[in-house]
Amino acid sequence: MENSNATGDGRPVFFFDIDNCLYSRSKKVHDMMKTLIRQYFATHLQLSPEESQTLHETYYQQYGLAIEGLVRHHKIDPLEYNRLVDDALPLEAVLHPDPELRALLQSINTSKVKLWLFTNAYVNHGKRVVKLLGVEDLFEGITYCDYASPPLVCKPKREAYELAMRQSGATDPGKCYFIDDSAINCQAAVEFGWKNVIHKLEPEDPDPEFPHGRWHIRDLKELKTIFPEVFKEGEVEAK
Ligand SMILES: [Mg+2]
Repeated sequence: MENSNATGDGRPVFFFDIDNCLYSRSKKVHDMMKTLIRQYFATHLQLSPEESQTLHETYYQQYGLAIEGLVRHHKIDPLEYNRLVDDALPLEAVLHPDPELRALLQSINTSKVKLWLFTNAYVNHGKRVVKLLGVEDLFEGITYCDYASPPLVCKPKREAYELAMRQSGATDPGKCYFIDDSAINCQAAVEFGWKNVIHKLEPEDPDPEFPHGRWHIRDLKELKTIFPEVFKEGEVEAK
């Protein structure tokens, strides 16, 4: 899997977010992360559990991820944070090879579209998750948030979408596909000019009050109905 500087070969790029998108929110990885992040806040900023929770929520809402606030306002070491939070998650206990996900991704015609990961996590975490899900080999590359070189470039910042296009070799925003479980990331993608933006919801989520992407789905299999043009022939079920 490449990290950067892919050559464009004219194929549109299909960008997949990783966390809570390639696996379900019911795996509670986000909750595990919350616990470790709050521990980090408490230890490194000498905060009470309540203060840690409030500050974490503030940064999450303001910046989309906690580390952005920590780097901006507290000059923490992002790689140490990554080691103590993302890399310390006991993911092996909850994420396992997912044959359904693998079959779905394999039914995409990669002569028509390039599959690319686009995550706000650091590269270690991103690669670890797709490896555990058993789909690492199906993506041609990954655009991640490089904690090693602040200022951080992460979704929903415009620069993150530019970086993803550059690294994947995508040239036309109007031909990009993108799926993410985050409403703000989907909205930013639409504003950036990406055309095929899908907001991934969980089965129990209510319909959004207003659309954040052009579509919302609750099961990745719905991609076959929305974008039959990127799937192999015979893979799209008749309606
Ligand atoms: Mg996500």
